[in-house]
Amino acid sequence: MIPYKHEPFQDFTVKENYDAYKAAIAKVEAELGQDFPLIIGGERVTTDEKITSYNPANKTEVIGRVSKASKDLAEKAMQAADTAFQSWKKVDPAIRADVLFKAAAIIRRRKNEFSALLTKEAGKPWNEADADTAEAIDFLEYYGRQMLKIKDGQTVESRPGEYNRYGYIPLGVAVVISPWNFPFAIMAGTTVAAVVTGNTVLLKPASTTPVIAYKFIEVLEEAGMPAGVVNFIPGSGAEVGDYLVDHPKTRFISFTGSRDVGLRINERASKVNEGQIWIKRVIAEMGGKDTIVVDAEADLDLAATSIVKSAFGFSGQKCSACSRVIAHQDVYDEVVERVVKLTNELTIGDPTDFNNFMATVIDQAAFDKITSYIEIGKEEGKLVAGGTADDSKGYFVNPTVFADVDRNARIMKEEIFGPVVAITKAKDFDEAIEIANDTEYGLTGAVITTNRFHQEKAREDFHVGNLYFNRGCTGAIVGYQPFGGFNMSGTDSKAGGPDYLQLHMQAKTTSEML
Ligand code: GLU
Repeated sequence: MIPYKHEPFQDFTVKENYDAYKAAIAKVEAELGQDFPLIIGGERVTTDEKITSYNPANKTEVIGRVSKASKDLAEKAMQAADTAFQSWKKVDPAIRADVLFKAAAIIRRRKNEFSALLTKEAGKPWNEADADTAEAIDFLEYYGRQMLKIKDGQTVESRPGEYNRYGYIPLGVAVVISPWNFPFAIMAGTTVAAVVTGNTVLLKPASTTPVIAYKFIEVLEEAGMPAGVVNFIPGSGAEVGDYLVDHPKTRFISFTGSRDVGLRINERASKVNEGQIWIKRVIAEMGGKDTIVVDAEADLDLAATSIVKSAFGFSGQKCSACSRVIAHQDVYDEVVERVVKLTNELTIGDPTDFNNFMATVIDQAAFDKITSYIEIGKEEGKLVAGGTADDSKGYFVNPTVFADVDRNARIMKEEIFGPVVAITKAKDFDEAIEIANDTEYGLTGAVITTNRFHQEKAREDFHVGNLYFNRGCTGAIVGYQPFGGFNMSGTDSKAGGPDYLQLHMQAKTTSEML
């Protein structure tokens, strides 16, 4: 087995790569507007009611129409997953891993086609879409190898005359509720982590990006995944989501999304329903209010580029996105000035045009929420860049910077999930870390400093799951920077990390007298 290495990102300034991506966009555009069924126990089920996926950059363009699960169909899917579990759990973990490796190979061959679909369905600029697909491949390659590593369990001691063993067995049926912001990577990663460990899955993808999820299930089928192992059931959270979270046969829930929905799931999952004989497990990756701290001794060029890239990449729609900057008073003015300059240079427009760094936000609800926070920001701080938005054709929000924001302002505390960053001043490094920690979240953070002692202080005291030095706070790589956060950012279940698969299993001890 070749050792794991992350999938490289493409350089689209190379003509060949550029042309290939253009061709992939044309292919995806030629195939828009199709209908996609549910997949339950391998069977295609078409419903009258549909979820329509639109292009956020051109809001009347239909990406596809996907059948919509009802409670009855969700129940049918649960039965299919439960039946499939009885055989899938017995399949050799190495064979389960083979399905992942094969799926990775299929995706790699059709990489630009998947990325181009992300460009159309989620509004991802080329580099962001390419990174999303690369990360999906990474999850397949990494979790496959992790399973091979832990499939025989761990070593435990035995006394003379006994033989003790410690192994892992699957849990059961998983409900996977995946987000629209990494509609390929996180959807695929959370699904296959459950699958490779021997569980079966009810996949409810985000309603704004269901087509890419359908395409992924087709890949898993082509790779040899048996019917019923992953069931594709897009539907409403209030109807299908709640029904399955509450279901007595649900063994665990793997959720990525907002803090409020995560807490709701956690609360519902804690209730034991009739016929339920276990405590449900919840794996949750929720929000962030992620901060970049700029020290007095720092490369300010690096600080500004790190802030702008982390705040505005994919329009700030990442849990890891930088939404707060805390700059030391000695460099504050210069940081603001440089960030504003770079922000004003950003190109914004349709994501199918490679020259655009930034495109839209995902839908009308996101547009309305973000623009209302921009209004709040105008009261709370000084608008120094952006502040405008236009939803006439697509959901475009310009990259927005507020300076002189009080540390207790709402835009310093609440997750906006859009291209809005607030900058505040700290009198010294200690205060900067204190402000950075003054949030209920704890996902990512970065410190730009050349002071080794300050770096070490941050390593100890900056309370986030992913802390970066002298770089931005987005772009964790599977197997290199396991991803997940503290407090209201979730259960710190580190996706792409060495402990992740164990969360999808239970350990069994056997002890034999010799
Ligand atoms: N893993 C991504 C990153 O490091 C963020 C994932 C998310 O937004 O949920 O940027």
